[in-house]
Amino acid sequence: MKPVAIRDLCISFGAVQVLHDVTFDVASGESFGLVGESGSGKSTVLRCMSMLQAQWTGDVIIGSQSVREMPLNARVRTVQMVFQDPYGSLHPRHSVATVLSEPLRIHGLDRQRARMEQALIDVGLPVDFLERFPHQLSGGQRQRVAIARALILEPEVLLLDEPTSALDVSVQAEILNLLARLRSEKGFTYLMVSHDLSVVDHMCDRFAVMQAGRIVEVLDRAAIPSNAATQPYARDLIAAS
Ligand code: ADP
Ligand code: MG
Repeated sequence: MKPVAIRDLCISFGAVQVLHDVTFDVASGESFGLVGESGSGKSTVLRCMSMLQAQWTGDVIIGSQSVREMPLNARVRTVQMVFQDPYGSLHPRHSVATVLSEPLRIHGLDRQRARMEQALIDVGLPVDFLERFPHQLSGGQRQRVAIARALILEPEVLLLDEPTSALDVSVQAEILNLLARLRSEKGFTYLMVSHDLSVVDHMCDRFAVMQAGRIVEVLDRAAIPSNAATQPYARDLIAAS
């Protein structure tokens, strides 16, 4: 568990500036939400933090180290990401064992079968799923594998980009409960993007509201039921939920 400090994060695609001086802090072990309308830059923030996007300016500091300065093998056990679409982490032609071995390999470890089996047990899947391929799994099972892959090295920080939006409603709650249980068992800081304020209310201690690439306001979870936002945009967003 480490704290995260995001400082003056800016990124442009061509002539379009998509993030404008995004600055906020997430405390060690905190569960933090990021909300805002589609296109406001939420996924881009996470992609910059995990260095899937590299051409940004500003800083992302985890613990005392900038993610930019971390070699890949240190970064994989510091920050991991789960995508809205489980295929963001799963290659359609790679078995679950291959998917789970990838972070181990980057970290210089062998294909440790016991560790891969434990990762599946942790997310509530049977160990013989190591031999399965993504098309042999349900959407919820695929997302469990993506979570197992993200947590296999016990990272300090987990980035979750709408991790349940692509799933059936009945499966969404299962995955959210799994994430809450894993956080309390393993201890990691998480940053969850969601467009659903009821999910943020359920899952996050605090959250930031984004609009057009800027952080409008950072609020406590209690601000949702009471609508204690001071910025008009944040107040309207909460009122509309
Ligand atoms: P959100 O996750 O809040 O819906 P995104 O971070 O995905 O928003 O996108 C923010 C804006 O940046 C959008 O206008 C999107 O089209 C643009 N954008 C994101 N990634 C790229 C990219 N690689 N190239 C060009 N534009 C991009
Ligand atoms: Mg997005």
